[in-house]
Amino acid sequence: MRVPLLDLSEQYRKLSGEIRAATDEVLASQRFILGPKLAQFEEATAEYCGSPHAIGVSSGTDALLAVFMALEIGLGDAVITSAYSFFATSGCIARVGATPVFIDIDPDTYNISAPALRRYIEKYCRRVEGKLVNENRQTIVALVPVHLFGLCCDMNEMLAVAREHNLILIEDAAQAIGAEFPLENASAKAGTIGDAGCFSFYPSKNLGAAGDAGLVTCRNAQFAERLRICRQHGMEARYQHQFIGGNFRLDELQAAILKIKLPHLDSWSGARREAARFYTTEFQGRGLQQKIKLPVEPYAASSLVNHHIYHQYVIRSPNRDELRQRLTDREIETAIYYPLALHEQPCFEYLGYKAGDFPEAERAARESLALPIYPEISREAQRYVVNCIAEFFS
Ligand SMILES: *Cc1c(COP(=O)(O)O)cnc(C)c1O
Repeated sequence: MRVPLLDLSEQYRKLSGEIRAATDEVLASQRFILGPKLAQFEEATAEYCGSPHAIGVSSGTDALLAVFMALEIGLGDAVITSAYSFFATSGCIARVGATPVFIDIDPDTYNISAPALRRYIEKYCRRVEGKLVNENRQTIVALVPVHLFGLCCDMNEMLAVAREHNLILIEDAAQAIGAEFPLENASAKAGTIGDAGCFSFYPSKNLGAAGDAGLVTCRNAQFAERLRICRQHGMEARYQHQFIGGNFRLDELQAAILKIKLPHLDSWSGARREAARFYTTEFQGRGLQQKIKLPVEPYAASSLVNHHIYHQYVIRSPNRDELRQRLTDREIETAIYYPLALHEQPCFEYLGYKAGDFPEAERAARESLALPIYPEISREAQRYVVNCIAEFFS
């Protein structure tokens, strides 16, 4: 039985009439840039996330880049982020001239470890004129936690550290749109807790466009305005550039499609969560939790519905590569997110990290394996995946 990692064709079939009508409308209007579809999508997404402002941009990467540029983060600055994430987070920090500072992850959640973060600050940083300065005399200006695989970081801790040290808090929520966190025992959605939230609508994300697209949420009206200017080359009045921005616009065709898909997001994430529960129950039923480490749900006891949105269902095993080969032989598609921790990436060699600096991130890179998950995955396909994994360990 062939099981793809992701298959959104059924989802598209159900919405294709609506999507085609909306794209036809855009084509007939010949209005492709900064038009009504974008405004509608921004408004709907701001409401969905519970954020006062939402600014559509050209990708999740550009969401991060636009935020860093609008904040004028640059040379001499350092930005703290996770050692284990997609490249874009740290790539954008480096692109504006700042230095990424990596922190190890929590091995259960794969998210940045709050104790490791506090240890780094205590050991390597000091206060100089109210600013946090590290061992390389860089000013730490921001903290960028990543909500990996659809699970929020411990944002109570991130907020506490950011407030204590006067850091700007930017959430990389590219994999976590709609994921909820029990903030001070209420509910807050990913990307609305810090000063800004960055989202991606890359086609395989929980809310995917038909191409590249992204969005920034923020609380501050002035900053929202600055981001709108930033995505147009820093241009306020026509051909007058207040500061250096870029072409970071989200186009009308993508916005029109995303607007149609957004109302279905919660039901899709719910279906992912049910599929995840099915995997977990089946694995446990066969005693496989001894052989493979299953995903954790740290906020499941809260009353939150979207406490995890399972952008990925990631297991880990010391025999990861052999297991993956077996699944490939059985026509089950899997993925490794991510085969290298960020400090192991060749492009970050200049940062001077060495093997062993972030043991949990390194171990996750060697052991983690993402199994097929998407809203429409059948229980039959999942049972087959579980059977093949059980067979591997028998
Ligand atoms: C996908 C992703 C991004 C980048 O988004 P793009 O839309 O592909 O540019 C950034 N950070 C994380 C964690 C991601 O998963």
